[in-house]
Amino acid sequence: MKLLEEKILKDGKVLSGDVLKVDSFLNHQLDVAFLSKLGQDIFNHFDGRGVNKILTVEASGIALACMTAQYFGCPVLCAKKHKSINISNDVYFSKVYSFTHKTENLIMVSKEYLNAGDKILIVDDFLAGGNACVGLIDLVKQAGAVVVGISTGVEKTYQGGYDRLTDMGYEVYSLARIAEMKDGKITFEK
Ligand code: 5GP
Repeated sequence: MKLLEEKILKDGKVLSGDVLKVDSFLNHQLDVAFLSKLGQDIFNHFDGRGVNKILTVEASGIALACMTAQYFGCPVLCAKKHKSINISNDVYFSKVYSFTHKTENLIMVSKEYLNAGDKILIVDDFLAGGNACVGLIDLVKQAGAVVVGISTGVEKTYQGGYDRLTDMGYEVYSLARIAEMKDGKITFEK
């Protein structure tokens, strides 16, 4: 999606450790009108496939997931990283290595909200090595639900997550696909 590529070139900053900072609009300060256009694009791509729930992981995937869900008219299920007293003990959980925190987290969703027969679209802000998505897929499988597809805002294709997920048989639709980030310069896939 050209719109997101242009926005990344205008407002994104390349940090050390292969991290792209886009927190002025995507995952810290949220440009709601802009994110809504991204959500519409994801909806247009996956419309007609029977998606009845969007699954994401807290916290940075939530905004794009919600903006997408408004077009599907479906709920967003947000996998939690911390067990609080208001989440039931009856959960599916999976282990995920965090790209940004460099730690292993447990992610969990209540069994009440992820059901056999659900048709799930996974949405996240970034796709790097694919660990977050693989953890979310694991939760879906445990519930006997189906992953219809995976959509991310920014995919850093060179970090392997795209190949990993497509090799597993999943369709991945990302709105901006980065082929390289070098010396602060961003090159997109053709
Ligand atoms: P993966 O699990 O695919 O390796 O990494 C995806 C997760 O790490 C996303 O949920 C996102 O929060 C975070 N992430 C990965 N790369 C970046 C990046 O370049 N910038 C930011 N802000 N987050 C990233």
